[in-house]
Amino acid sequence: MRVLKFGGSSLASAERFRQVADIIKDKSQSSKVAVVVSAPQGVTNHLVAMAENISDEAKLTTDLGHFKRAISTIIEDLSASLSEFNSQHCEQALVNYEHQLQRYMQGATLLSYCPDHIRARIISTGERLSVAILDSVLQSSGLQVSLLSPEKFLFTNESSLNAVADLVLSKEKFSAEYEKLNQVSLMPGFIGMGVSKDNEDGQVTTLGRNGSDYSAAVLAVCMQAECCEIWTDVDGVYNADPRMIKDAKLLDYLSYQEAMELSYFGASVLHPKTIGPIAQYHIPCLIKNTSNPAAPGTLISSENDQQKRVKAISNLDDLTMVNVSGPGMKGMVGMASRVFATMSRESISLVLISQSSSEYCISFSIHSVDAQQAEQSLKEEFELELLNGLLEPITLQGELSIVSLVGDGMHHQRGVAAKFFSSLEQARVNVVAIAQDSSERSISVVIEQRKCTAAMKVSHQNFFSHKPAIDVFLVGCGVVGSELIAQISRQQASLKEQNIALKVYGIANSKGMVFDKEGIDLGNWQEVMVEGAQNKQAVEVNAENIKAFVSDNHLINPVLVDSTSNEALAMSYVDYLAEGFHVVTPNKKANTDTWQYYQELRSTAQKTNRRFLYETTVGAGLPVIDTLQNLIKAGDQLQRFEGVLSGSLSYIFGKLDEGMLLSEATAIAKENGFTEPDPRDDLSGMDVARKLLIMARESGMQLELSDINIESVLPDDFDDSGDVDEFMRNLSKLDSDVSARCETAKAEGKVLRYIGNIVDGKCQVSVEAVDSSHPLYSIKDGENALAIHSRYYQPLPFVLRGYGAGAAVTAAGVFGDILRTLAWEQQH
Ligand code: ADP
Ligand code: ASP
Ligand code: MG
Repeated sequence: MRVLKFGGSSLASAERFRQVADIIKDKSQSSKVAVVVSAPQGVTNHLVAMAENISDEAKLTTDLGHFKRAISTIIEDLSASLSEFNSQHCEQALVNYEHQLQRYMQGATLLSYCPDHIRARIISTGERLSVAILDSVLQSSGLQVSLLSPEKFLFTNESSLNAVADLVLSKEKFSAEYEKLNQVSLMPGFIGMGVSKDNEDGQVTTLGRNGSDYSAAVLAVCMQAECCEIWTDVDGVYNADPRMIKDAKLLDYLSYQEAMELSYFGASVLHPKTIGPIAQYHIPCLIKNTSNPAAPGTLISSENDQQKRVKAISNLDDLTMVNVSGPGMKGMVGMASRVFATMSRESISLVLISQSSSEYCISFSIHSVDAQQAEQSLKEEFELELLNGLLEPITLQGELSIVSLVGDGMHHQRGVAAKFFSSLEQARVNVVAIAQDSSERSISVVIEQRKCTAAMKVSHQNFFSHKPAIDVFLVGCGVVGSELIAQISRQQASLKEQNIALKVYGIANSKGMVFDKEGIDLGNWQEVMVEGAQNKQAVEVNAENIKAFVSDNHLINPVLVDSTSNEALAMSYVDYLAEGFHVVTPNKKANTDTWQYYQELRSTAQKTNRRFLYETTVGAGLPVIDTLQNLIKAGDQLQRFEGVLSGSLSYIFGKLDEGMLLSEATAIAKENGFTEPDPRDDLSGMDVARKLLIMARESGMQLELSDINIESVLPDDFDDSGDVDEFMRNLSKLDSDVSARCETAKAEGKVLRYIGNIVDGKCQVSVEAVDSSHPLYSIKDGENALAIHSRYYQPLPFVLRGYGAGAAVTAAGVFGDILRTLAWEQQH
């Protein structure tokens, strides 16, 4: 004998009813089956609304309308698709139940409230209609079905809305029913008969929302079934709620204890009361998908799977934490029991309890629906203690969730809790309370509900998927930005192979930032930007807007990539770091602002455990910053530095050697993407000065930009006003002077180079004529060269040389920094 339970999702439409009937037909060929059904999806909610709106006639009529429409749509669709279907029988059942509902309502209206035993009758009407409809569907295909009435045997306590079954009594009563069963029998779930010792003619009860699973488990015990099958809308139990975690994995096996913990802590695929009876009677339970019967499903049994340590993660929302504390708690015998007795008296169930070892404070979580009642009754119970200051005012914190890690084998593994807590830290989640069961089968934390998805995602990622995410927001899609997008797009397949999920969720140009929840299609980003601007979807680039997107979409590793040279944006990095973003940038403005801001950036990044990465600010893709930082960390000291730090000026001065004019060389350098967006930044020496300042500060010198001595390529009396085009036109006025200076140098066997120096703690940027013995003589064509003379590197300097400008190398350097945010993640 098998019990098959079909949930509301499996009875949501005519098509689902037909699928259910096919499964029953198939199963009944090899074994007797008893079928338990829920109400069609959504129907119980309408009935609950009716019971709650007794005094509001308009609402009542609307809810009744919704209820009738849901049922009659199914009946109509079935009669249109099944030739032998007895729709009249079903329609008549609907009319009868509607009359019955109206009688209950009238009664309740007279009382001006709906007593619980009437409420139980109202809200279980959906199950009864499911039986009537499924009976007709099965009969239309020639199956003879016997109807099982839970009122005759499924005896419970008298709690009308959350009843608990008496298994022994139910088993005993069921024996009288057993003989009457056909090959297929049908029973409404969710319903019991509440009896007391002295009154066996009790009242109808319901087993709690989602309680049909429990009905099936009780029936399985009564029948001594070989298996209890729970048919639903997913292939089985996953290692996290598949609605929340897209790459949740299906579990083949679970032990009873694991299933119990998971369902208790929120895995709604099973009602928490289901496992108790079947575990007690060792009945295996199979979770199956009605729409995919071929899938093997998840088997829940007494087998312990020792291999997998942490099996799954679950979440339970809408909780409130209650704190009872005060000097009167300490050592006072019976305080805890009074607190818990008060809750029990009010039938408030405690989801999780934690008590501080000083006995100063008892905290526990309850469902938020019970919060008001809990507060009120505790205040009454402890009125005297509160008055006398023995207790501090009772506090409640709402909108909380519990996230639990579950697995039988967890106690064999060290470091699970540590990994869990660092995952929470990574998701920037504060832990309100912690509990671990003594068998170490679960660890639970209470956290703010708004952070629940992020906590689930990051924990799932660290324990199961091992697929770290990088969530990029790119500001600036000029030469470097667009090359970066192209590189990320090209590397997607290889990143996937390395199990890295890198997505660009936002791109901004001067019109604003466009977002895509799924990640922007990088093959098509230009059109996305145009459309975004046209449809006015682009939003202003600021930390609030991007943060709101990150939090709405529960992203866990957001990285702001600034590939502009914008000052205002650079000045807001601190805000981004403070909000939990990593910041990656080739923009030099932040690191060359005041020393105070420079320090603030670093301290904020440290405080929030985020990375501020700017490798490409000096020498583009050349590993300058990282190398220098490592040397300094290892105790080295910078003594002297010289270098060609500008790719554009390296290119331009190289071309001057060949006799090209300054204006021509600048135009070509600009076209090739060697210059800054505005070439004045290069020719003025400002760009090199900034790089030099960054080098100096990395080496520990507390300098400001104004401390750098700069010789500009543009003489003081040169008019460099106007927009970029105008400036480029004016530049030719300098051609003859610059060429003449070049010729003079040439006559001495020298070339002109634009060199940055750090000597004796002073920084200088200037045009120098150097001969062929000078290491920077041959540096041209966009190459950079940096000679670091240090305590460790002497007398020969440490030299770095290579292309120091150009979209491809700069973008690759930025890409490298973006990936370095992962090294941080993997430490956790
Ligand atoms: P039914 O209508 O069949 O009773 P429910 O909606 O009560 O179905 O339960 C099935 C749902 O449980 C799934 O659709 C899924 O969204 C949710 N769920 C939550 N946690 C899990 C989990 N760990 N594994 C599978 N499903 C889960
Ligand atoms: N129909 C009831 C509910 O929605 C019971 C169930 O579906 O299991 O809560
Ligand atoms: Mg359910």
